[in-house]
Amino acid sequence: MDVSGFIWPVDQSKVVRFTNGTGRGFGDRRSNGARYHAGCDLYAPRKTKVFAVTYGRIVNYYPFYKSGTYPYDYAYCLMINYGHFVMNHGEILRDLPKGIGVGTIVKPGDLIGYLSSCNMQHTEIYCNTETRNKAWYKGSGQPGTLCDPTTFLINLAKSNGVTIA
Ligand SMILES: [Zn+2]
Repeated sequence: MDVSGFIWPVDQSKVVRFTNGTGRGFGDRRSNGARYHAGCDLYAPRKTKVFAVTYGRIVNYYPFYKSGTYPYDYAYCLMINYGHFVMNHGEILRDLPKGIGVGTIVKPGDLIGYLSSCNMQHTEIYCNTETRNKAWYKGSGQPGTLCDPTTFLINLAKSNGVTIA
């Protein structure tokens, strides 16, 4: 995919390696092997800004993961349909910036949220018009619409001058 003009989704200049096998990568084991990680984790501190990658429309927003650090800091996911793909901007704070919600039209670099105390954006990509995330359980196979975002994210980091280390 051509990523020119696309924006790295997290406000950071350096990200911890998120490739397969790091524990942060696509397909890495979760829940003692009962399921697989459906995305890539982009680590950054709580309240780091999250940006729209390109032109799109917010299609869903719902509680996603219970964060342990702050009792009321439930991590949400924001699903954006970017036309050629849908991204789950996962594990963001419940409170969204003003004017952001389901139905909002976004452009590259728009502020769409902040990271929760999970201290990462859990990033999933779907290849069609999904509006909810799909869990990847052992035995049931990789959900048909779920794509491996690794190469896309590596290219996006490179084009935005974000170091992966
Ligand atoms: Zn994750």
